[in-house]
Amino acid sequence: RQGMARRFLARPAVTKAGTAVRVQVNIADPSDVDGIDIATCDGVGLMRTEFLFGKTLPDEETQYRAYRKVLEWAGDKPVTIRTVDAGGDKPVPGFTVEEGNPFLGLRGIRLSLARLDIFRAQIRALLRAAPHGNLRVMFPMIAMADEYERAAALFAEEQAALAARGVAQEMPPLGIMVEVPSVAIAPEAFADVAFFSIGSNDLTQYVMAAARDNAAVAHLNSVRHPAVLRLIGSVTAFGRETGIPVSLCGDAGGDPAAIPSLLEAGLRDLSVAPAQLAMAKAAISDVSV
Ligand code: PEP
Ligand code: MG
Repeated sequence: RQGMARRFLARPAVTKAGTAVRVQVNIADPSDVDGIDIATCDGVGLMRTEFLFGKTLPDEETQYRAYRKVLEWAGDKPVTIRTVDAGGDKPVPGFTVEEGNPFLGLRGIRLSLARLDIFRAQIRALLRAAPHGNLRVMFPMIAMADEYERAAALFAEEQAALAARGVAQEMPPLGIMVEVPSVAIAPEAFADVAFFSIGSNDLTQYVMAAARDNAAVAHLNSVRHPAVLRLIGSVTAFGRETGIPVSLCGDAGGDPAAIPSLLEAGLRDLSVAPAQLAMAKAAISDVSV
């Protein structure tokens, strides 16, 4: 099936009914882009930055170079870089804390807002990388509008400080992951964000109360459960009402079994693992939406 699907790689994704679907890729390490032809995708829908925070905390310069490399590779296509989502299933020595219930603890934006020294260095690296391409930045694990407002205020402060020093920088559009149910249930609190990106891995685990990394409850962990699809559908409806773009960057986007339901829920913008790109485009061409 992979082989059959390869012929879809070079073409834009369209359904059987002629509806265009944007398909971007998810990456982590900047070297992930080396094997990808930019012509085969619509940009980077999610760059996970946790890889940079492996053994030692990265300095601003290391981050700046990593982000700039991906932006230059993508040219004028959009690159959505996510601020560090440490914690939960992604512990980082020297950064995350020991917790009894890490999926419900200090992870993602909660941790970044608790460790401003680390967060501010990442923000400066992103602001400085922005002039080198079509950057968008998103925050993980947002639950309340106040977290977004605080993160956006830090971007504004750091931008002003860089500008005062004469450092080249640019403010990217700032969006949020929709992966905590509170956001999907009450998106009207987020009318200020530039875009929404649905994180179906976490959204599903929190809606179904079934850990994403526990095989014993994997049967409960389905993005196709009506409760999850209804939430996704209400977020895409909110996006249509307000004009705020909505995409999805969870693993479900690259799953041929989930793609028909995601398009029916109103999504027209998916971001998938590079290995799933051809399969996802082939699956989209089979849907009659
Ligand atoms: C998600 O939760 O769906 C997502 C894309 O983020 P991560 O898998 O990195 O938590
Ligand atoms: Mg997530």
